[in-house]
Amino acid sequence: MTPNSHFDFDITAHNKPYVDTNYDLLICGGGLVGASLALMLKPLGLRVALIEAHLFSDKSHPSFDERTTALSNSSRRIFEAINVWPLLQSQITPIKRIHVSDQGRFGFARLTAEEQGIAAMGYVVPNWQMGTALWQRLQAEQIEVIAPAKVIQVNAIVHSQAHRSIQVETSTRTHSLNARLIVAADGAHSVVRDAVGIGHRHVDYGQVAVIANALTQKFHNHVAYERFTPRGPVAVLPLTDARVGLIWTVATQRADEVLGWNDNEFLAHFQQEFGFRLGRFLKVGERHHYPLALIRADAHSAERIAVIGNAAQMLHPIAGQGLNLGLRDAATLAEVLADALRNHSNSVNPNTMDAGDHVVLRRYSEWRQQDSKRIIAFTDGLVRMFNQPLGLIKLIRDMGLLAFDMLPLAKDALSQLSVGAAGHIPRLSRGAPL
Ligand SMILES: Cc1cc2nc3c(=O)[nH]c(=O)nc-3n(C[C@H](O)[C@H](O)[C@H](O)COP(=O)(O)OP(=O)(O)OC[C@H]3O[C@@H](n4cnc5c(N)ncnc54)[C@H](O)[C@@H]3O)c2cc1C
Repeated sequence: MTPNSHFDFDITAHNKPYVDTNYDLLICGGGLVGASLALMLKPLGLRVALIEAHLFSDKSHPSFDERTTALSNSSRRIFEAINVWPLLQSQITPIKRIHVSDQGRFGFARLTAEEQGIAAMGYVVPNWQMGTALWQRLQAEQIEVIAPAKVIQVNAIVHSQAHRSIQVETSTRTHSLNARLIVAADGAHSVVRDAVGIGHRHVDYGQVAVIANALTQKFHNHVAYERFTPRGPVAVLPLTDARVGLIWTVATQRADEVLGWNDNEFLAHFQQEFGFRLGRFLKVGERHHYPLALIRADAHSAERIAVIGNAAQMLHPIAGQGLNLGLRDAATLAEVLADALRNHSNSVNPNTMDAGDHVVLRRYSEWRQQDSKRIIAFTDGLVRMFNQPLGLIKLIRDMGLLAFDMLPLAKDALSQLSVGAAGHIPRLSRGAPL
């Protein structure tokens, strides 16, 4: 086993001198976004370590779990750039068509890849498979991973102008590590974000997402369905082996009842919500649930801190945008660091490039504001619009969906959101090198 291997790798077991070790960058959180950032940064030659609370092999890993994720074309390009995409080939299902409908009403919309002139609107990939591929790549690139290790504190005051320190707890002791830049990639309840005093807004939607894989009578034909019902939206995503992934949003107070149903009861109720577009639902796998909220950090950066992924914004999965947005956070941070390094290599002392320089962080932060604001407004607006019980709003909604289906411009806007190709796009998301 190499020293950089993550498998059952406890930093204390190797008795390495981690105390007061200096890094250019410490990425706190090795979930889908943090692990991707570590790979994006590899070509820059910075001293980077990834700190993750869970071992990859840990069944309770919160990021690499049983969910399936709809990736945009922009995310595909990022995964191609870090050589993760080829490792996912056998588990990828392209989405050729998106079908949006409103139960019991006449409004619906369709978006096709063919109409848009692209190979696929997006791709569905199981999270655990993305995790496996990312960890394989981290190993292959010999990126330093410190796991299982929990970031427990970040010094609120930057004592030295050049570094910030964090405290990391392993099974045996607490270590103090220094870096020029600390990246908060530790999810919606980020310890790093909170420790440095970046506030956040938390809006509880009073809903949970229940997810499961299922088998249907008819083949999905690469169509992703989103159906709005008076009790909340349901989505059906196409998967490999002719299976589908179900995402059912239910009110929090109904969650125990839904999770308590046996398979037949669950399928019968789901069928009622979704209808018969895929024939009968025949079989369902294990169910999992996730509380839904909008959690939004007040800032994307602070002194020697960058905030990315769910630590910056956790969204309702209604529009499938959370990971796509998080990967663009990471791609943007990698790009501003690459540019700073490029500018710096022309300077008097190229070895002194400061990854946590406030100019770099300001550029990152300003760049992310627009994309984040737009996607949050789109996603939150969708949740609120379809939660409205009022008749007039229902009418507008129906008209809106009908108009939407007929209005190419509106469809283009949504399609651009789906493919992640609007606004100021980072190079990796466009398929260009860093
Ligand atoms: C039901 C559901 C469906 C979704 N579907 C889609 C979709 O189709 N498309 C899409 O784009 N997005 C989707 N999302 C959103 C997507 O899953 C998230 O945006 C994404 O997983 C965020 O990744 P992350 O790495 O930022 O955060 P996380 O996945 O939360 O990872 C954070 C990591 O940090 C680690 N960590 C936490 N605290 C510490 C600490 N103190 N020290 C060390 N490590 C720590 C954790 O162990 C974890 O590995 C969905 C979400 C849900 C709930």
